[in-house]
Amino acid sequence: MAYNTKFIFVTGGVLSSLGKGLASASIGALLESRGLTVTIQKLDPYINVDPGTMNPFQHGEVFVTDDGSETDLDLGHYERFTSAKVGQDNNFTTGKIYHSVITKERKGEYLGGTVQVIPHITDEIKKSIKLVADGVDVVIVEIGGTIGDIESLPFLEAIRQFRTDAGKDNVLYIHLTLVPYIETAGEVKTKPTQHSVKELRSIGIQPDILLCRTDRYLSKEIKSKIALFCDVRVDEVITAKDVECIYEVPLIFHKEGLDDKIVELLHIWTRAPRLEEWEEFVKKYKAPKNSVNIAIVGKYVNLTESYKSLNEALYHSGVPNDCKVNLIFVDSEKIDETSCEEIFKEAGGILVPGGFGSRGVEGKILAVKYARENKIPYFGICLGMQVAVIEFARNVTNMKNAHSSEFDCDAPYPVIYLMKEWYDDKTETIQKRDITSDKGGTMRLGAYPCHIINETFAYKAYGISDISERHRHRYEFNNEYKEKFEKKGLVISGVSPNGELVEIVEIKNHPWFLGCQFHPEFKSRPMNPHPLFRDFIKASLKNAKNQTSDLVKSSSS
Ligand code: GLN
Repeated sequence: MAYNTKFIFVTGGVLSSLGKGLASASIGALLESRGLTVTIQKLDPYINVDPGTMNPFQHGEVFVTDDGSETDLDLGHYERFTSAKVGQDNNFTTGKIYHSVITKERKGEYLGGTVQVIPHITDEIKKSIKLVADGVDVVIVEIGGTIGDIESLPFLEAIRQFRTDAGKDNVLYIHLTLVPYIETAGEVKTKPTQHSVKELRSIGIQPDILLCRTDRYLSKEIKSKIALFCDVRVDEVITAKDVECIYEVPLIFHKEGLDDKIVELLHIWTRAPRLEEWEEFVKKYKAPKNSVNIAIVGKYVNLTESYKSLNEALYHSGVPNDCKVNLIFVDSEKIDETSCEEIFKEAGGILVPGGFGSRGVEGKILAVKYARENKIPYFGICLGMQVAVIEFARNVTNMKNAHSSEFDCDAPYPVIYLMKEWYDDKTETIQKRDITSDKGGTMRLGAYPCHIINETFAYKAYGISDISERHRHRYEFNNEYKEKFEKKGLVISGVSPNGELVEIVEIKNHPWFLGCQFHPEFKSRPMNPHPLFRDFIKASLKNAKNQTSDLVKSSSS
């Protein structure tokens, strides 16, 4: 641990979903804008070792890092808001902490002592926090859950102890609470905040700064009242006002004096913040000239948290194209030959995201067919690429009932399959798989290199030949069919360095049709939108404009 590293612990009270992840990410963004280096870590109280096996309905998106960790979606916010590179040490769960303590106990490392929550679990938590502290000025640690939960107690106890260990001037506690406006009373209420802080103090943590989530700027009087009850100064009560665009949060916090306060309390000397890029981005984001509808054909249409990074990547890409991106979630189970036209008639572009399981797959294949035949820009991500290959096999190369062996293990043409053996660039080993392999740990996960072929949509987007993207899948393109496909116009535009794994496919004579085996959405940033998303939106906008001009022509003729 760098000896002068500072630590900020972010806790949340009253209720969940107040935006602790965004608040932590925004604090990171503000500190970076003042020239500091930061990293952000999430401590999650649940018992799963990682969210990799959790149902997206319950947990939202699984965010994949370069090192191949399957992590909480808040890590996506951290990477989008800051330049911190996050990995396996940036997300610890109760399960992961207990797992390592129990492993040590089994090995006899506690020398016969009784293993207890305090000190063994709390020591392990503190050790995990220190793991990310090397080489950064500030570590921001977000504690999942809400104050008052039984599950989060060991984490809170560990961060309580942390202040004494690391020194009072090096640790800051920031608490996010709710200050609701009550319509019938005609005023905002501070009681939930008072209670939440009381609860926090009862376990020995006195917050230094309060972030008050609310729908309006808090008056001086309200701030004074909160300050009095919660034992902070008035300027330590910050309005965390609801915003239209999440990228406004750092700007609002800055206006409220949050970053000034943080550096003052932590005794850090920094330059003045440079927030011009953020301001510029938000300005453009909020006033686009055009708009485009993108149909997202998936399974979790009622829970868009499952596609968090995807949604953000699409929004980012609106900015360089000067357009608002409207997301239309389409339940793939509702798609059949007859409903396609009606469902997609207003879509500028069609996107099939990643997914697992056979539910709704046929609808996704139909969506691809519709996009290919009607020359609507198509973007297939992971499963979205696989269904594009299946559709091509079935309808262009006449391979009846072609499928992925994930969905039909007896498919006559298993165009997507479990590759038995391949060279893995990440581990530099030969990997082997078959149907009996474990589900866990057998996915191709994390960053892999990819070589791009010239004069393709992919090359036009990236502008370079060698890229790295993040993966999370088990099945692969089956090379046995490569030649047949290529003869009929499928372009293999991206491959692994030795050419063995197909990473990107496209089709010719189409405005924009691309499927990639990786998940580009994880690497899109507000100020640096992902090139594939940017070009997909560009093509979709062009298509949408053509559609409207056709409509105008036909109505005036
Ligand atoms: N289910 C597919 C596979 O495992 C695709 C996974 C994904 O879309 N992330 O290969």
